Amino acid sequence: MFLPSVINHRQPFSPAAGPTGVSSRKPGLFIAPGCDEHPVELPVHLDRNLAVTYGPHEMPEDRDPDNVLLQRWGGTCTGDLDWGAHQTHRQVYAMDQLRCCGCAEDPDIQDPHVTATGFTPPGMLWLLPVGPDLTNAVWPKDVETANPPICLRCAHRAVRACDALQRGFIALRVRTSEIIGYYGTVYTSTDPPQALEARVVKLTEPAIDRTVARQLVRRLHQAQPDPSSLALSA
Ligand SMILES: [Zn+2]
Repeated sequence: MFLPSVINHRQPFSPAAGPTGVSSRKPGLFIAPGCDEHPVELPVHLDRNLAVTYGPHEMPEDRDPDNVLLQRWGGTCTGDLDWGAHQTHRQVYAMDQLRCCGCAEDPDIQDPHVTATGFTPPGMLWLLPVGPDLTNAVWPKDVETANPPICLRCAHRAVRACDALQRGFIALRVRTSEIIGYYGTVYTSTDPPQALEARVVKLTEPAIDRTVARQLVRRLHQAQPDPSSLALSA
């Protein structure tokens, strides 16, 4: 059985249980917020090291193992799911621990094999909407994504329920991946700090200290399309 080789220098992300924690997940799409969940607007300050902080409002669960400041979410994971959004703490947990984005259980992992619908390359399953960077791509290739891996059951459900996937999706098989940074809002080093731009910030960039992070990003190494596993859902 193929076992994924995970390059991960970090301590595991273990968000506290609670209103924004893992225990509040809703069956359907683990990382999606319910309509009763929302980001909490908190004033952002700079500390003496010119790093962003929530100041007196900050709680230990606002930081990841690399001391990156995470977007705070409030409310309860109830009501209709927003399939197009990511609740930060659940997304970071699934991406960090390589859990299925739909159910938080193990994602699908296959050895290479041939089925009636085609060849399945080896590795972990990732399901991504097809954007400009994946159209006419030459495979295998490295892909950066904020979408965690997925199991087959959730993948079949997602392609029927998610508007973005219904506009086009690609199933990828990936043997190794690594955490590279966060998508988030970068603040200026002025006092008070101002929101400058939203982008992917590498963990190695100095700007990560001035970033309020929303989604953990991985680089998938030499991803290969899997045309067979979801053929019946296409
Ligand atoms: Zn699942």
